[in-house]
Amino acid sequence: MAGTNEGTGLRTRAIHAGEAPDPATGASAPNLAMSSTFVQRDAGGFSAHDAAGSPYVYARWQNPTVAGLEAKIAALEGTEAAAAYASGMAAVAAVFLTELSAGDHLVVSEVCYAGVTELVRETLPRFGIAVSRVDTADPAAVRAAVRAETRLIHVETPANPLLRLTDLAAVAAIAKAAGVRLSCDATFGSPVATRAADYGVDYTIQSLTKYVCGHGDALGGSVAGRAALIEGLRREATVHQGGALSPFNAWLIARGAATLPLRMAAHEAGAAEVARWLEAHPRVERVFWPGLASHPQHGLARAQMRNFSGMIAFRAGRAAEGRALAQRMAEELRTVHYAVSLGHHRSLIFWIGTDDVMESTFRLEGAALARWREAAGDGVFRLSVGLEDPGDIIADLARVLG
Ligand SMILES: *Cc1c(COP(=O)(O)O)cnc(C)c1O
Repeated sequence: MAGTNEGTGLRTRAIHAGEAPDPATGASAPNLAMSSTFVQRDAGGFSAHDAAGSPYVYARWQNPTVAGLEAKIAALEGTEAAAAYASGMAAVAAVFLTELSAGDHLVVSEVCYAGVTELVRETLPRFGIAVSRVDTADPAAVRAAVRAETRLIHVETPANPLLRLTDLAAVAAIAKAAGVRLSCDATFGSPVATRAADYGVDYTIQSLTKYVCGHGDALGGSVAGRAALIEGLRREATVHQGGALSPFNAWLIARGAATLPLRMAAHEAGAAEVARWLEAHPRVERVFWPGLASHPQHGLARAQMRNFSGMIAFRAGRAAEGRALAQRMAEELRTVHYAVSLGHHRSLIFWIGTDDVMESTFRLEGAALARWREAAGDGVFRLSVGLEDPGDIIADLARVLG
């Protein structure tokens, strides 16, 4: 974009990529272009397939404000291109429904975002797509699950809600050897923690609703990768499935993204204080935060994450006690909101009971269930440490935990 100085540092790129002073007015901040259609100077074809000549035709295909956000995301992810979607789920569904056809096979993390787990368990089989759910923290399990019909491996790192990591370089090598595409949902760490494309991931997915927006006021999603792949995704998914991002949300998300590197540094520092306090608390049995030496994959976290993020999972109290504690949190917490979602400037906490989530979503059995129980016990609290003073977050939790 003319007049843009993206610089080389992440903080400069987060602010300047995808935007430039308005040539007509000199406005320093990006304009918001809400237009759903664009006046054409040439009488052209009517289909998106014929639109190559003009940059903007119809806002589901491309809108300048959304395009600005897409350029910013690509700059943060270190990829040639990015496509924005109406939500993180729309981004995941776009990748799955573009890459997978009837008769194909998907390998996916046995524990990942609930909506993704339900999509692969309930919806994809209706379209004749076979799914193997494996522990992607174990590259050997991924290799063993790949078969002749496998077209895509989908991982999430760190994974929601247990903060389990996947070794991206190892899984990318398996995907490459098998001629299979690899998608990674990197929402929990944002591009500041891990640029998945650097490890050979084809499609890097973010729920922009979380850290990238950062303020809890806009849903969005993105997929970043090589230009040819993103172009295919745009034609197949954005144009035909229609999950386009609203320009207003793109404008809000780009505003949030400008401060992402600074916010991630503060989220990490706050989470470090809260995680250490939790680890020392007598009622807390276990704490999962990638930055703690006690995290089972702390070595991998150090190698693969430049920022340990603000997401913590912890165990406190057994079955009924955990639920009762959650009820007290919902009633008594003040600074920390008892609510789903994550990555906002406000701290958020939510209880994930093992029996409930197995019934509603994960349906794990045998060794997979044993792996979940070993980590989560009867349930975990998922805490998204916000940007408040860490001492106030700790004081709020201490009122309930004692
Ligand atoms: C929230 C989330 C999603 C879904 O994103 P939405 O914007 O809510 O649709 C996908 N993956 C992860 C890891 C998430 O945390």
